[in-house]
Amino acid sequence: MIPRREGRVGINVIMLGPPGAGKGTQASRFAVARGLIHISTGDILRDGIKAQLPMAMIAKAKMDRGALVDDETIIAIVGERLMRPDSHRGFVLDGFPRTVAQACALDAVMDERGHGPLIIVNLVVPEPELVRRLAGRRICSTCGTNAVEATAALACARCGGALVQRADDTKGVVRDRLGVYRRSTKPLVDYYRERPTFRIVNGAQSQDGVANELEILVDDVIVSATASSLETLQF
Ligand code: AMP
Repeated sequence: MIPRREGRVGINVIMLGPPGAGKGTQASRFAVARGLIHISTGDILRDGIKAQLPMAMIAKAKMDRGALVDDETIIAIVGERLMRPDSHRGFVLDGFPRTVAQACALDAVMDERGHGPLIIVNLVVPEPELVRRLAGRRICSTCGTNAVEATAALACARCGGALVQRADDTKGVVRDRLGVYRRSTKPLVDYYRERPTFRIVNGAQSQDGVANELEILVDDVIVSATASSLETLQF
């Protein structure tokens, strides 16, 4: 088992996958289990909208119609977050990168900050299942937590806030978001595919099943990365 908190190598994970693949749920679970920070660009933007920050209010129109916010804004948000000391033990990035330009910017930040390799997890789920999940998804209007699927609850299990549908989870917008994913985000899989730290996870299984697979493969990547850096040292 890989050391959970004290390991010298940072555990730096990015979660790729279409809307509805379970990136948020799994990123949050994994971050809590390993004591890492969870960075969701969607949550940061939604918090900014609640606080009526000018940058987020400009992004809102794009978010509401399922389009991507411009690369410059998003790269600045994530770059600033990854330079804070609490990210040096590791992070789980959820919803970023979403374009090849963002991925290039992330590589530059990783080169600058060090603290371990980037582990790329691609969560794969068939499209009809994504549409089904997004149509039924409800989030808490107060704390933003995803409600557990298949419950008829009206209130958030965490804080009691009212459960609502996200403005961008309505049928028409979901179709647009999946189109944006195919055009802009899927090319990222090609960008990362050849890296030894790239892994595919079947996101169509139960939440526990995905979480277990994720735990095992991240440990496996870290062991392999550590072994290959030791080999380099032994020449
Ligand atoms: P999410 O919660 O990750 O589904 O993100 C909700 C919305 O926020 C997206 O549909 C985009 O409009 C915007 N957004 C979040 N992350 C990014 C990103 N990395 N690049 C561009 N737009 C983003």
